[in-house]
Amino acid sequence: MARRRRSPTEMEKLGELEALRKIRDSYPLPRTVGELFQKSGSLKSEYVEHRPAERAIERYHKRSHERVVEYEVTLGVRQALKLPLLHNQLVHRERWAVYWIHKRKRYKKLFTSLGAAIIFHSEVVQLVRNATIISRSRGYHIPPFLRGKLPKGWVWCPHCMKPRRYKRHPLGDTFYTIKKDPNTCVRKERQVALLICPMCQSTSRDHVYRASNQPWEIRKFRRGATRAKRGIKGQPYPKRRRR
Ligand SMILES: [Zn+2]
Repeated sequence: MARRRRSPTEMEKLGELEALRKIRDSYPLPRTVGELFQKSGSLKSEYVEHRPAERAIERYHKRSHERVVEYEVTLGVRQALKLPLLHNQLVHRERWAVYWIHKRKRYKKLFTSLGAAIIFHSEVVQLVRNATIISRSRGYHIPPFLRGKLPKGWVWCPHCMKPRRYKRHPLGDTFYTIKKDPNTCVRKERQVALLICPMCQSTSRDHVYRASNQPWEIRKFRRGATRAKRGIKGQPYPKRRRR
């Protein structure tokens, strides 16, 4: 069947979208990044889907961490410094925080930039060892270098951006999820216990948690292979039927 060409009305619509974006972009920027946000901390509606405002926030994010080159940061924080911000982070002003627990009491301080959070953390951590930098509006995946290398009982916490020992949820909840079998890497629906991070209180229901803490399969490819065979580990690959 011949491929159909895109109908002209659709093309017109694409032009319309671009025109709309230009109208949105023409709204003037304020003098400071802080003025892009409401008092509640969310992005003002006139700056949502506003490309110059998004670029200004990205610049602010980059500039803030140019100051922190001297500090040793963990692998997870280094990853967060390198990756660009997602939409969910752009629309929240205080997207970073430092949490710490002292004498069974929880404390937190919110930050607009990761650079400022790192500097504050470097001071607090000398007084309270458990102080942690938290990503509030986005969970970060496990850095590829750490995949499958965490010791038993440890899992990757997407919001603390480091390995943690999760605990059973105080309510003792369970839920159903598709989970890989650790030996065969076959996906199956299972009932699992709800776990919770003792520091940031994020749970094992989080999709980034589920993706980061699955058994990682190592697949070997012959030289020149252009695609992966879809077989089950430990079982012979079914022969292709000839037609
Ligand atoms: Zn956590």
